[in-house]
Order: sequence, then C-alpha cells, then structure tokens
Amino acid sequence: MQDLIGDIDVLGETGTPADQLRVLADQNTGKARKLYIESYGCQMNFSDSEIVASILQKEGFDTTSDINQADLVFLNTCSIRDKAEQTVRNRLTQINGLKKGKPEMLVGVLGCMAERLKTKLLEEENIVDLVAGPDAYRDLPQLIAQVDDGERAVNTFLSREETYGDITPVRLNTNGVTAFISIMRGCDNMCSFCVVPFTRGRERSRNPHSIVNEAKDLFDKGYREVTLLGQNVDSYKWSEEENNKAWLEKKGVGSYINFAGLLEMVANVNADLRVRFSTSHPKDITDEVLHTMAMHENICKYIHLPVQSGNSRILELMNRGYSREWYLKRIAKIREILGDDCGLSSDMITGFCSETEEEHAETLSLMDKVIFDYAYMFFYSERPGTPAAKQFKDDIDPEVKTRRLQEIIKKQRAHSLLSNQRDIGKEFNVLVEGTSKKSGEFLQGRNSANKVVVFPKENFKKGDYVSVIIDSCTSATLIGTTIDGTAKSKIII
Ligand code: SAM
Ligand code: SF4
Repeated sequence: MQDLIGDIDVLGETGTPADQLRVLADQNTGKARKLYIESYGCQMNFSDSEIVASILQKEGFDTTSDINQADLVFLNTCSIRDKAEQTVRNRLTQINGLKKGKPEMLVGVLGCMAERLKTKLLEEENIVDLVAGPDAYRDLPQLIAQVDDGERAVNTFLSREETYGDITPVRLNTNGVTAFISIMRGCDNMCSFCVVPFTRGRERSRNPHSIVNEAKDLFDKGYREVTLLGQNVDSYKWSEEENNKAWLEKKGVGSYINFAGLLEMVANVNADLRVRFSTSHPKDITDEVLHTMAMHENICKYIHLPVQSGNSRILELMNRGYSREWYLKRIAKIREILGDDCGLSSDMITGFCSETEEEHAETLSLMDKVIFDYAYMFFYSERPGTPAAKQFKDDIDPEVKTRRLQEIIKKQRAHSLLSNQRDIGKEFNVLVEGTSKKSGEFLQGRNSANKVVVFPKENFKKGDYVSVIIDSCTSATLIGTTIDGTAKSKIII
C-alpha cells in the first residue's frame, strides 16, 4: 500500500503538509556540543523541537543544520499514519551508515513514535541510544548523561499536567513575522482511527498568562502573526486550580478560561498582531468563538474544521461526535456570523473500515455543499492499538482507497481554483512574510482567510500590511497589485 500512493495534500504554498520534514537551523553561540534535530509530522512537533532546543541550550548544546557536525542527533517523530513511521525507520538506516564513521555520535528518537513503541524501539533499532516521549523533554539532560555513561536511556512517562508553559522556545526556523504558540497538549477525544490520545496523553491547557506573555514578547521582537496550536483548541479550559480538562470537569471547577476567553486575551495584546488558531473540532466550536472572531479585526477569518467523512454512519464509527447534518449546520453558522469570505479548510480520510461507494459519494457531495478553500486528504491507515484497529476490519481494498482518494483530490483542486477565482477583483490586506518563492521581484504573504497572495515588491518589506487587489490566480495562489504603493500601519481586513 505504501508504494501505491503517498499521503497527498493540495495546500500548495500554505499550511503544513502532513509528512513534511524540518531541520532546526544553526545556532552559533559557542557551546561545546552540537545538536541536530529533524522533525516530522504536525506543527506541534516542530514547536516541541524548539522547546527541546531551548532545554538543551542550557546544557551546553548549540543546534546545527548539518548532521555531519552533530554530536547528538534527534528525530522528533510522527505516528499518525504507517507511512510516517516507515519514513523515520528508513532515516534511521541512513543515519546508521553515518554513525559507523562516527561512533561517538548519540542518536535519540523523540515524539509520538517514541511514545508508541517505548523500549521496543531500542530492541528493533540498534542504532538508537535514547527514547523520549512528548512529555519527557525536561528529563533530556539526565537521559543524555545516562547515555554518556554508556547506558541506553528511555523515558516515555505521560504527564497529566506538563505544558512546558514556562519554557521559551528558541525560534530558529523563522521568517521573523509569523510564529506558532502551543496552547494545550494531548487529546481526550478518542476518534477511533487516531493514535494521538495514546501518544500525547490527556488534554491539558497551558496557563493563558504565559501564552499572552509569549505573544507580547513575539510582538516586541517584530512578529505580526501568532497561530495558537492544539489538537482541539475549542476544548481549551484552564483554571488556576486545574489545567487537566478531565480533572477540571470532574472537580466541577466553575470558574475557568475557555477558548473564546483566551482568543480575546491574545487579540488584545496589540491590534497589529494577527491571531490564528488550529485545529478546531466540529463538535466543540462554539458560537461564542465565532462571535469573538467577528468582534476582533485582528483575529483572522479562517477556520480549519476537519470533517473526515461526509457520511453520518462513518462519522459514528470514527467516534467523531457529530453527524453530516451537524457539520453542515456549523458551516452555515460560520457563514452567518463571519460571512462568505471566511476561509475554510478540512481534513478527510477515504476508505475507512466498511465505507461503501454511496458513503464515499456523500463525502464528495458534502465537499460540493461547503466548497473548502483547501484540504489535507488521506487514505485510512490502520494504527495498532486504536479503537478502530481493535473493533473494525480494515476491509477496503488498497486500490479502492486510492481511487476514492484521487476522486476527492480532483474535486478539491477544482474547488480551490473556484474559491480563488471568486476572489478576483477583491481587495485584501496582506501581511508580508517574505519574497515570493518563484520570483525575487515579488513578495508573498497571506490574507485573513489564509490564502497565499503574491504581488510586486515595490518598497514593501517583511512585516508590512499591504492592500492588494486580486487580478488573477492559480488553485494555490492569488496574484495581485498593490493599491496605493504605501504600507498600511494598521490592519484592515
Ligand atoms: N486533532 C485534529 C482533528 O481532530 O481534526 C487533527 C489531528 S491529526 C494529527 C491530523 C489528521 O490526520 C486528522 O484530521 C485525520 O484526517 C488524519 N489521520 C489521523 N489518523 C489517521 C489514520 N489512522 N489514517 C489516516 N489519516 C489519519
Ligand atoms: Fe486524533 Fe480526534 Fe484527537 Fe484529532 S480530535 S487528535 S483526530 S483523537
């Protein structure tokens, strides 16, 4: 199956493709040892790697982007689909070759794969010296010392409180304009196909004051956009007394800050700081959140709302907690409160256990009703230990999964183009993120709806807000011209 197709995204230049790899950039502060980190999977993992670099900076490590210079190599891994794990195993085989010429180099596996496989990873991959799960990063100095002493080291303890709220991530791979802020960890949802609740543990919310301080600090350093990150941001719940959602609810804590409250706090940091968030959950996104978005100009009008399937029976088997009708009602509410220009994207899985042709056709028809701007689309990959793996048979033929995936990709490409064509002639305020990848004569940024906009450079620079009229488009990019040749100092969305 892996060879048949890869996971495919149709996001073009925006968003984070599912199995993308990122390497932390060079940090030259004269530390004794060099750390090389490769991160796989979601934005949360990239964010965690910055926390790891911050912890190890204090322990005498500078990061390097060149694996040949490294004393310590970390792979921060993803388990969401089988393909993601296979990619890491292939990479370990390559690194093994390198280690033969440099036996003193330490190799560690972090993140979801470390958590899922625990000591099994040490048995299966001889090259690995250290295994640390997502909640064990404060223990890394101790684990590295253990390896320095000639032992292999493992910590896959999942915490009920850890949020790394007090650790300022070192931001190395940055454009200096947009940044991610982790607001919560774990997930309590138990979607039947998903490994995340097992690899990232229970849901915990980070102290909102530390989130606001991080946003303020970023603004003072010249950043103009923050994205608040969590597996299910709408379920954010924090009180002084308790940050673990299940415990907070069990104790009946009546006074807490919810996601709408947090959004408001971050939006108030500065009117010139744009705020985004991801990921929203269709069963949890509230009208209060939508009204908060409408009230603040600097909260971007864009929602990533994964539907997974357009059929209610499949959604039930997936344990998503909503039906097709519920999802379409939430979309109608978004349109009512935030208007037609609010950006919408989604995640979809084809070929889930027992999915019929008619049920697959309902995913296609839901896409026709909503017209997403873009989507991440996957075929179902059974993950060991998940409720779906235990209860249902992965019975859809690989060729059928592939064909269904190609059908939704084809439809999404057409919808992305249609959605962009509808923007021709409209004026958007664009936050400049840098030079266009295709030409040094053009700049690139995003509008409020998260669409990539390219326009002539003139005298604009990174971090400016620029009014752009859209003249043409591709399915991935809007192309336009500036209106008055002057950078706006304030956001007009
Ligand atoms: N928490 C987010 C949510 O519920 O929408 C998404 C988390 S997950 C990292 C990102 C996406 O991966 C999911 O929305 C789903 O579409 C996809 N995914 C998760 N498990 C999968 C599996 N076993 N096979 C295929 N795709 C999967
Ligand atoms: Fe996985 Fe569902 Fe949690 Fe998303 S909400 S991380 S899909 S269990």
